[in-house]
Amino acid sequence: MPHVLTAAELPVADLLFRAEAWRQRLLAHPSPPVPPHARMVALLFYEPSTRTRAAFEQAAVLLGCHPLTITAEASSVAKGESLQDTVRTLNAQGVRAIVLRHPQVGAPQTAAQVSDAPILNAGDGAHEHPTQGLLDLYTLWLHYGKPDPETRWLRGRKVAIVGDIRHSRVARSNRVLLSQAGAEVWLCAPPTLLPDAPLPDAHLTHDAEEALQNADIVMALRLQTERMAQGLLPSLNAYRRDYQINTERLRAAKPDCVVMHPGPIQRGVEISDEIADGERSLILAQVRNGVYVRAAVLEYALME
Ligand code: ASP
Repeated sequence: MPHVLTAAELPVADLLFRAEAWRQRLLAHPSPPVPPHARMVALLFYEPSTRTRAAFEQAAVLLGCHPLTITAEASSVAKGESLQDTVRTLNAQGVRAIVLRHPQVGAPQTAAQVSDAPILNAGDGAHEHPTQGLLDLYTLWLHYGKPDPETRWLRGRKVAIVGDIRHSRVARSNRVLLSQAGAEVWLCAPPTLLPDAPLPDAHLTHDAEEALQNADIVMALRLQTERMAQGLLPSLNAYRRDYQINTERLRAAKPDCVVMHPGPIQRGVEISDEIADGERSLILAQVRNGVYVRAAVLEYALME
């Protein structure tokens, strides 16, 4: 029974091929016959979500499972129930897997300690979001023509991840998977939004020009105001001026660079409309690929 807790432990090549099989299947049959929903998969969400939740719900249905979505406000969590007791309760009701999003770092590991069913991390605080990292990797893998995933197929590619690095679980999971595939990873933020300690296999900088110089892949990140202590971001205008991904700033990157964003986008803040909607943007491909990747990950976690 494999849990899916961090990016580093993902069987990446296996999951990329599974996701690709799902993409081909759904392209051939946009509404495939699905088996009866005899099994239950719980989606336990203690934080808001659109893309991740919708993709996991679709993945559950495609795999013949009924998704039971439980949000913190509408559950016994609001009555003070602990995470462990909620997990034990869902186990006792026979759910086959639990997809968990939680504001606390390490919540999925805590849940995994008491769960009979696999726990799938759908984002824990500023720590990890492994399935987002994997869908970003899958999107790049398709973009570069499906190279052998057992090789360092991103070698020679520079990735600039720009935004609120300090609070971003997406940056952390992406750093692991992108550097594992051979990419040169740059993490760029204003000094107050960089992590306190260096991250392995990544360059940290507060200079957007340096990060974007000759980049092949540029990823913009949202300012995570819900996790931000007051005073970390003195001025939104200064942030736009120095870090927004727009046409002017992208001149430093390679002419054929692609632009990504995990969503939700705050248009006009971390990214301009023209770039978000422009021809270099992979943002909607990321959203689409999120369904295939979540189907692949859930299929893997449900393996007997
Ligand atoms: N959707 C991503 C996450 O849950 C990114 C974000 O919220 O900015 O981490």
